[in-house]
Amino acid sequence: MAASRNHRNRRSIKLLLFFTFAVQATFCSSAVLERQQAYDGRKMESDSLEGKVHCSRSRSRTASKIIEEYLVPFVKQKGYNMSSACRLNHENDMFKEQELKKDMIRPSQWRCDYCKKTFRSEEYLDNHMDNRHSDLLDLSANRCLADVCGAIHCDHVANEGKAAAKKRCSRAAVIKNKHLCESLANSCFPPEEGGVALQLNEFFLRQFCDSHTCDGKPKHFPRGSGVRKNKSLYMALCLFTITLLLIFYLAVYLYKRDMNINATSLKRLKQHPILKAQKSKKY
Ligand SMILES: [Zn+2]
Repeated sequence: MAASRNHRNRRSIKLLLFFTFAVQATFCSSAVLERQQAYDGRKMESDSLEGKVHCSRSRSRTASKIIEEYLVPFVKQKGYNMSSACRLNHENDMFKEQELKKDMIRPSQWRCDYCKKTFRSEEYLDNHMDNRHSDLLDLSANRCLADVCGAIHCDHVANEGKAAAKKRCSRAAVIKNKHLCESLANSCFPPEEGGVALQLNEFFLRQFCDSHTCDGKPKHFPRGSGVRKNKSLYMALCLFTITLLLIFYLAVYLYKRDMNINATSLKRLKQHPILKAQKSKKY
């Protein structure tokens, strides 16, 4: 009797152990699955971050600056609209939205307009945008403006004013950039459209593509900037000229007024009885 009870107890313990093991295995496997899913999620996130890292924010900014200064004013002047297929179109800059949300309060204080945090420099704010607001980036293909940097001379603009060591001209790089430059001209301003598109195609080739050469000293952006750079200097010159003119007219007015007063006084003096009597005595 006692032996049979012991046997039942042992079987119950075995069943209990088995049940505990089964429950633990289930929980463990679900935990592993959750960890795997979390890892996959993180991996996807890091993949998307990698996609973003492949496009340089600072070079995209330089490219955008060049387009705004050396191309857009001329395109606007002609009343032409660059299509969305044109990689130089402002809409094709994946950082456009974020750049608009950056606010420079002063050179040493930058604010994120998404969350109103402030930073000591633009670089810190850029890092914040990368870390906190990367979900707001559109990582579609062909939206990396930095990719056209070779064609539109980003390095030249970024190194302007810096004492750079003279580099040997790489013919292979020059040919590649010139080819990219010409393909941009043809996709943004298709010559077959004729008229304005043809004119702008020609303009683009002269402004950006001709300087892709190893021969001689190529002039970058020979058609110049379409943006009036020294706007404040121009305003100051205008104000200075207006002030000079005002002073000149005031001086002329005062001089004429004095002359009139003197002439009137002389006339009155001539009419004086003593002077009149002296005059009549002489004759
Ligand atoms: Zn923020």
